[in-house]
Amino acid sequence: MAKTIIISNRLPVQLQINNGSINAIPSVGGLATGMKSVHSGSESLWIGWSGLTDEDTPPELEDAIDKALKENGCAKVKLNAQEVDGFYFGFSNRTVWPLFHYFLKYSEFELDFWNTYKAVNQKFADAIIEKSDEDDTIWVHDYQLMLVPQMVREKRPNTSIGFFLHIPFPSYEIFRTLPWREEILEGLLGSDLIGFHTYDYERHFLSSVRRLLGLEVSFNEIYLDNRVIKVDSFPMGIDYKKFRDAALVQVERKQDNRSDLQQRLDDHKASAPDTKLILSIDRLDYSKGIAKRINAFEYFLNKYPEYKEKVRLIILAVPSRSNVPQYQLLKKEIDELVGRINGELSTVNWTPIWYFYRSLPFENLIDLYTSSDIAWLTPLRDGMNLVAKEYIATRTDKSGVLILSEMAGSAYEMNEALLINPNNFEQQADTLHQAITMPLEEQQSRNTFLQKRLERYNVEVWANEFMSALNQKKTAGHAYI
Ligand code: UDP
Repeated sequence: MAKTIIISNRLPVQLQINNGSINAIPSVGGLATGMKSVHSGSESLWIGWSGLTDEDTPPELEDAIDKALKENGCAKVKLNAQEVDGFYFGFSNRTVWPLFHYFLKYSEFELDFWNTYKAVNQKFADAIIEKSDEDDTIWVHDYQLMLVPQMVREKRPNTSIGFFLHIPFPSYEIFRTLPWREEILEGLLGSDLIGFHTYDYERHFLSSVRRLLGLEVSFNEIYLDNRVIKVDSFPMGIDYKKFRDAALVQVERKQDNRSDLQQRLDDHKASAPDTKLILSIDRLDYSKGIAKRINAFEYFLNKYPEYKEKVRLIILAVPSRSNVPQYQLLKKEIDELVGRINGELSTVNWTPIWYFYRSLPFENLIDLYTSSDIAWLTPLRDGMNLVAKEYIATRTDKSGVLILSEMAGSAYEMNEALLINPNNFEQQADTLHQAITMPLEEQQSRNTFLQKRLERYNVEVWANEFMSALNQKKTAGHAYI
């Protein structure tokens, strides 16, 4: 029976080694949830890196690891520490990530990174070839594996291959600076279907294909000598019901059953009922515009001093890639900014910024979403931004205002939010003022539209639409004559 093979850098399970025994804990992240309908039963297999390097894996546990993964419908690609360094921390996160997020000056063009990226992509492709048959359907995920489609195609000319990019595809003017630009495009063109979050990313990709490879492109199709490749946008959604239901439970929870965080938030509300809580949640990443947001907050407090002691900004910054130098510098910059602003503006009764540098359990995220009057998300570039969608999903009484950067992919589907340019402090100060004073009816009317859209186009629909587009392509055949 034909199978569906999913490939991503990381597997949707976390391995824990306890006294020589292995535990595989399924992840609860967005992608793992969305893929549930695609990755179920014996007709599917998820291939990826387990998160353990060869050096960290006791050889006597290899079989137990394989068994635990198999029980979860997974198979591993083995990587050593040097491969993870060059492929993941190197080419993926120090070359592609900054370039595709328009941070050209952070992008490092290192031949060693590139060579390791190629070698590791070949390992993933080899694992697919080994574990799949010609009539299986293959779905490759994200920027770490852009060469895999072509590597599989070489051995499997008739297999149906889809690729989805979870980050932006930059404009041709940015992409053209990459020394290995043609190889990356050719790698992707091994696919039958290539998906992006937005129409703009799709357009940028097609433009690069036309200009760098000189291929014929018509609407959203690319014509090769013997095949046609389809390119389309599939904006990724969230598990809407999970967030809405968790918020409903949270709102109904009895006084004595609240989390410590919720108690602190409630105490704060009780002591200062007319104070507004403004929330931002991001991984600590330069693409998220956290430092700019803090500067814009200071600008706002200077422009509208009447809101001193009346607003509080909560920043949850989740540690990320902390062995990459740019991330260490950013952490230092944010620590200092928060320290300076709190030092200068705090009063006996008021600290303008509550800053948390950690990741929080799901229940606490819900506490923050449901307790905040405003969510303020200002990425300088973001493939999608799911936090914006999650905030709206948890607003069960439809109150709350979302201020969202127009540079986030999610802005394209969230027109009823207050959209801002994260570089424009004047506009952001005025938008914060607008959000604070927005009548409840207006909040509810905007959120009604947003919630309907998010509920309908949830993450499961996203995965199913991609798969059915890929299957349609398969039925239509590879040849275009
Ligand atoms: N998130 C989390 N733990 C936290 C804070 C956030 O798991 O402490 C989740 C959040 O719920 C969201 C994801 O991290 O689903 C962030 O996704 P987004 O698309 O906003 O940004 P990314 O980190 O993928 O760039």
